[in-house]
Amino acid sequence: MAPLPEPDFDGLVQLAATVCGTRAAVLQLVDDEAPASSWSVGLPEVVAGLTDFYARVLQAGGKPLTIPDAAADPGLSRHPMVAGPPGLRFFAAVPLIAADGTPLGVLAVMDSAVRTGRDADLSALDMLGRLVVAQLDLRRQQQRLADRNAEQEQQNQRRLQIAMRTAQMSSWALDLADNSLTLPPEFAAMLGTGTAMPGTLDELLQHYAAESRTRIRQVITECARNAAPFDEEAQILTAPDGRRWVRMIGEVVRGTSGAVTRIQGILQDINARKQAQEETLRLAMRLTTTLASITEAFVTLDREGRFTYLNQESERLLQHSTAELLGQEIWQDFGEEVSGRLRQHIQRALTTNRQVEFENFFPPLGKWLEVRAYPFAEGLAVYFRDVSERRNSQEQLMLLETGIARLNDIVVIVEASPRHGSGPQIVFVNDAFERHTGYTREEVLSRMPGMLQGPETREDELARIFGALQQWKQARGELVIYRKDGESFWVDLEIVSVAAQNGDLTHWVAVGRDITQRKAADEKIHHLAFYDPLTELPNRQLLLERLEQALEDCASTRQEGVLMFIDLDNFKILNDTLGHSKGDLLLQKVAVRLKGCVRKLDTVARLGGDEFVVMLQDLGTQPEAATRKAQIVAEKVLATLREPYDLAGYQHYSTSSIGVTPFNIRQGSVSELLKQADLAMYQAKTMGRNTVCFFDPDMQASVSANAALSTDLRAGLREHQFLVHYQPQVDREQRITGVEALLRWKHPQRGMVSPAEFIPVAEESGLILPLGQWVLEQACLQLAVWQKQPETAGLSIAVNVSVRQFRHPDFVDMVMAAIKHSGIQPHNLKLELTESLLADRMEIAIAKMGTLKALGVTLALDDFGMGYSSLSYLKRLPLDQLKIDKSFIADVFSDPNDAAICSAIISLAQSLGLDVIAEGVETEAQRSFLAGLGCGYYQGFLFCPPLPIAEFETFMRGAAT
Ligand code: C2E
Ligand code: CA
Ligand code: CA
Repeated sequence: MAPLPEPDFDGLVQLAATVCGTRAAVLQLVDDEAPASSWSVGLPEVVAGLTDFYARVLQAGGKPLTIPDAAADPGLSRHPMVAGPPGLRFFAAVPLIAADGTPLGVLAVMDSAVRTGRDADLSALDMLGRLVVAQLDLRRQQQRLADRNAEQEQQNQRRLQIAMRTAQMSSWALDLADNSLTLPPEFAAMLGTGTAMPGTLDELLQHYAAESRTRIRQVITECARNAAPFDEEAQILTAPDGRRWVRMIGEVVRGTSGAVTRIQGILQDINARKQAQEETLRLAMRLTTTLASITEAFVTLDREGRFTYLNQESERLLQHSTAELLGQEIWQDFGEEVSGRLRQHIQRALTTNRQVEFENFFPPLGKWLEVRAYPFAEGLAVYFRDVSERRNSQEQLMLLETGIARLNDIVVIVEASPRHGSGPQIVFVNDAFERHTGYTREEVLSRMPGMLQGPETREDELARIFGALQQWKQARGELVIYRKDGESFWVDLEIVSVAAQNGDLTHWVAVGRDITQRKAADEKIHHLAFYDPLTELPNRQLLLERLEQALEDCASTRQEGVLMFIDLDNFKILNDTLGHSKGDLLLQKVAVRLKGCVRKLDTVARLGGDEFVVMLQDLGTQPEAATRKAQIVAEKVLATLREPYDLAGYQHYSTSSIGVTPFNIRQGSVSELLKQADLAMYQAKTMGRNTVCFFDPDMQASVSANAALSTDLRAGLREHQFLVHYQPQVDREQRITGVEALLRWKHPQRGMVSPAEFIPVAEESGLILPLGQWVLEQACLQLAVWQKQPETAGLSIAVNVSVRQFRHPDFVDMVMAAIKHSGIQPHNLKLELTESLLADRMEIAIAKMGTLKALGVTLALDDFGMGYSSLSYLKRLPLDQLKIDKSFIADVFSDPNDAAICSAIISLAQSLGLDVIAEGVETEAQRSFLAGLGCGYYQGFLFCPPLPIAEFETFMRGAAT
């Protein structure tokens, strides 16, 4: 949204003095935030010391205040401008009060003659006063709108902070330009008392535990260089000599140019979680070593209890070889008591044909063995397990198991390569596991851990974890785990490999914590930082990142893409007239419609205000085809956004302007592309809105060509490269009645430059002011010369006045000075004004025309018929002449419309009592046609082209004879 142009208060006070017929006028605003708060005309210096007077006006109950003679007024009689020169006597003023009653200022006129204020004067003053109030009101509204946007931004920030605080996170940032580091205040608290807050990365690293410094520095450098985000857990050193776990997340922030300017992220105190997790891990490790030490041996016996087979494990366990034991009874050698028990159990198994199980201490072996005997036809199968360690630490074991069971963290122990079965098997899970997954122990034991994976479990993350474990490392990762009911949840897993004494990998112990909530908080934070809360569209930051990525992708895929800038036409008017809630509603509906116009892979973003951007990718490798596709999408967007909107019961119509620029491997940095699309969008606006415009390198070329031209213009003005040519204007009898002054620029290298080319540039750069003044002065000097000779004394000179020149507060003064200085009859000076100066601030323009008219100059309306559609205002303008634009004359025979327009203009002028002149008359046929319609005056090549003064005078003498 473009800011409002500054109100023309200089012009306004001038107007106040003119309409009230006073020598001076002052506008004083009470708003001290405004860049200037006082404007005046007709007074020698800044008017000070009138504060009391202004206060009186404002207290007069909203009514105008008149002081017929200030010398007799106790409040004003001692004011220097009353007591001394210029000896002000008459004061009249109106208070300026906003609709809500806020006093805004005072508009006053003063004169050096005593007089009683006529009612008409005061009503004009009152009208001007209202105009000021209206303009100030508009400015206040715009200010409010700007404030509101800033406030929304702050609100987002606040929400982000709250979300972070609930997750015990706080933000940090590293500015890459000067390496300055911003850390959250909580960090100082973590470091402990008496420690200074680190201000640079180096200082920060000093606070990290020595073993992690290199790693942290490495990830930050990598992040700055390759935009690789990081998430690291490490210990910091705390005063006096403790340690604390912190988690540091970082990602890059890009400037508008697309370059990485900052790293920002989150610091989280994870000490409590880490300690709990480590404790769990320690417990689980001890349990596993215990389990791992249990081995199993297997033998077979015949029905007499004699060994028929021993496996290796049983040889080791029983401390005898197969050769020694084969054929021996199993119950020999264990001492009386134990052998008796063994024999008893085994015989019972054989006689009952039922399996038996028991545990006993075997003194010769020095071990506790668990014995399980299964009878079969030829004898018995007996399994032995050395349970000494378990027996020895039975109590401890029970403690461990119950301890782990009661933990909140999930514990899973996996046997890495069990002798039976193909892959790793789950051998232990705790209660927390059952609670979180919905599986019972029985359902998971001896199954593969893969059963907990699902479609959203990241394969690459799993591979990374196992890669680390392969090297006997401890590994950490975040994984999605699937419950029995198919639901998923996030766990933070810490996995450790456990090795047996001989070094073989036996188990993995995994301790996990449900972090679904934290993940949700992370996502929320991400969302707040990268999405626009009003429309839920990606914001500028995310757009910049995606665009950067898209440009990188182009390099490998060779696919074309386009960027579209979309700006709603006249959005501000809706906002100002119907309020922000309707405005917000419209923006939300626009966002939905835009998303409906593109594919899923395309990006629709909101940059702020009423500016949207659409990025289309993968449009194929053919530039022409891509452009066609973009054109189709842009037209669709235009049409979709043009459909009526239902804004909470109010039917609203809106259009948009779209600028499009393509991107591919050959061209474009992020900031360059945004500029191009923006430029194209502005072009669409100047083409009358509700339209699409493609970026074209000529646009940029013309921007820079104009810059060069305006430098040249300035030099041209200094070095007198300008001339005035004169083109005759004739009456019905083809007698020369005057001329039009047309500016010419004789450039030393460019040659003759056409005014059509340089006038617009001069307008834009403001150079039109000195140029226009120069032409005006030349015309007046020429009139003065002609005035002295009877045969030329009646000639008029028409001078073109551009809008910018007309609007300048000094314009009337300048004309007045030129007339006075040259001593001409003002009536011979004709000013050619255009309809465009009525396009806004019409009242002021009309008043100013009145002032000019009052000076005695002649006024013509140039290029008539081209501009403003409403003719109703014509009546109110103090004009002498209408000039039919040459485009109507050119086509008067080929386009029946143009003939009708000419005819209408001529009769309109007649009914208003105005002269009509036709310009661009090139043929006799055109002339006689116009004459038939009643046109009074003519100008064009048919009579004479514009000529230098000497040639014109020769031409005139020839015409006269
Ligand atoms: P304009 O005010 O409409 O001026 C009339 C233009 O029509 C002039 O173009 C004139 O040379 C041209 N012309 C005259 N007779 C014929 C004819 O029979 N057929 C055709 N086709 N054209 C004819 P020029 O001199 O190139 O000026 C172009 C425009 O530049 C002017 O249009 C005016 O808008 C602007 N301009 C020229 N001098 C000044 C100046 O001193 N101040 C300002 N502000 N604008 C100027
Ligand atoms: Ca003209
Ligand atoms: Ca014209």
